[in-house]
Amino acid sequence: MKTVLRYYRPYVWLVILNLIFLFGQAMCELALPGYMSDIINNGIVPQDMGYIRKIGIIMIAVSAATVCFSLAGSFIAARVSAKSSRDIRHALFTRVIAFSASELEDFSTASLITRSTNDVQMVQQATVMILRLACFAPMMGIGAIVRALDTSVSLSWTIGLALLVILCIMAMAFFLVFPKFKVLQSKLDNLNLIMKERLSGVLVIRAFNTQKTEEGRFDEANRELTKINMFVNRAMSFMMPALMFVMNGVSILIVWAGAHLVEADKLMIGDMLAYLQYAMHVIMSFLFITMIFIMIPRAAVSAQRIGRVIDTEPAIEDPEEPETVSSHEGRVEFRNVSFAYPDAEEKALENVTFTAEPGRTTAVIGGTGSGKSTLVSLIPRFYDVTEGQVVIDGVDVRDMTQHDLRDRIGYVPQKGLLFSGTIASNLRYGGDEATDEELMEAVETAQAKDFVMEKECGLDEEVAQGGTNVSGGQKQRLSIARALVKKPEIYIFDDSFSALDFKTDKALRDALAEKVGGSTIIIVAQRINTIIDADRIIVMDDGRIAGTGTHQQLMESCDVYREIALSQLSEEELERGRK
Ligand code: ADP
Ligand code: MG
Repeated sequence: MKTVLRYYRPYVWLVILNLIFLFGQAMCELALPGYMSDIINNGIVPQDMGYIRKIGIIMIAVSAATVCFSLAGSFIAARVSAKSSRDIRHALFTRVIAFSASELEDFSTASLITRSTNDVQMVQQATVMILRLACFAPMMGIGAIVRALDTSVSLSWTIGLALLVILCIMAMAFFLVFPKFKVLQSKLDNLNLIMKERLSGVLVIRAFNTQKTEEGRFDEANRELTKINMFVNRAMSFMMPALMFVMNGVSILIVWAGAHLVEADKLMIGDMLAYLQYAMHVIMSFLFITMIFIMIPRAAVSAQRIGRVIDTEPAIEDPEEPETVSSHEGRVEFRNVSFAYPDAEEKALENVTFTAEPGRTTAVIGGTGSGKSTLVSLIPRFYDVTEGQVVIDGVDVRDMTQHDLRDRIGYVPQKGLLFSGTIASNLRYGGDEATDEELMEAVETAQAKDFVMEKECGLDEEVAQGGTNVSGGQKQRLSIARALVKKPEIYIFDDSFSALDFKTDKALRDALAEKVGGSTIIIVAQRINTIIDADRIIVMDDGRIAGTGTHQQLMESCDVYREIALSQLSEEELERGRK
């Protein structure tokens, strides 16, 4: 709550200006019934045309002033609410971008989307309401009560009765509806979650013919949301007619009781009509106040949800006094590294120690789930180690800024991901100022030249959202090219060759050796073929290193490696590897 309020600070002056306008509006509106009673009592009844004209002109002027004040107030409310929501969305986005994987998992992407759209909108709506009414309604209410009592004390019971009835109706609505608001937002989260997951998995759903079950699941979430929404809206829609009924009832009551007083000469007819208007003002203000009381808790729920995101410190932060790295060799060292995922009981890595030298290719191989991806994700600091150290050129990765660190690393993820744009814009992700020649060179090294050239527009070919119009293997090659454009000291390929055929795999490795041979290259792979020539192979088994060495050394000394090798390679290939 406090967090969100902070984003209104720049607009304090506008809010104060708004208060002045509102005060003006209230004063003008309260003056009007007084003039009306004057014009009736002293103008219309005695048929004094001059008086009617004089007061009439004043009334027109006051009405015009009311409109001006009200317009100015609306402008400010619109401006403040729109701008503050912009600031809040910006803060949310900046924070979410800084989140490490564990915070993203904590909140879930779907919830983060709801929070930065729907919840912000709730707060925005409440802001408008509060700016327009939160101060205006009490000002109007009190002013109208004072004026009404001034006009006629003997009718005051009518207002009292009306307020009592309205209070009962509002209290009922409040206790019925309010608890549902929190549920409503979480159901919305749930719906978004299902929607997002199903949309990204739409092909799998089709392939397994599970549209019906998925529809069922979606329907269930949709129905739950609808049910609560209907309940809330029904309760709300019952309110309006009930309140109108009370207002009209009170009008009749005032006219009825007032007529008796007028007949007994205890009240002027103009005063009765003025009293009627004041009574309406009192009731309306009271209504606005209760509406705000309903609105605020709902917006508060949203504000809390937003605040929780903004207040969450990313687990991975830059050090206060970052060390600047002087040497740029790119030597990566793991020193007794152990790592467990947040909330996981078992360690995903245990006691891993090795060094990846510049100018060498270090390969990591192992079964699925053996911790290969986890291992390499510690280098760009996607996660922090639980024990031990990851050191680059003698500096712990936690002692440099994330920007410096990641500037030195070209990371190609297991799943190639492209952004919407062109091939060139995707490649320039790693280096804005790369020339077209440099891009072409990277594309050539990544063995993507053939299919890029086949495209009508070459490098300027459009890439659809999520890169759906290129195949898996092409996506991987473009991801590799993207890392190459960056020209870092350290290359990390997390299973990036898996979707390539053997021939391309080989050609790519040869091209890499030629172009970036001086860098530190870390290749994660499942296929022995991919890593058979590596200078150093690290065999992972269940989060531990089962052996290190060259292909030949490992064939002799490491059982895990031999098993993998025998299952993949024919005798001849093994022979060839031995030579
Ligand atoms: P590999 O890349 O070798 O196939 P991973 O490094 O992806 O294996 O996974 C190693 C282990 O860590 C697995 O047991 C997996 O269940 C676990 N794991 C991977 N990612 C996460 C995560 N984000 N949260 C919790 N556990 C994870
Ligand atoms: Mg993996």
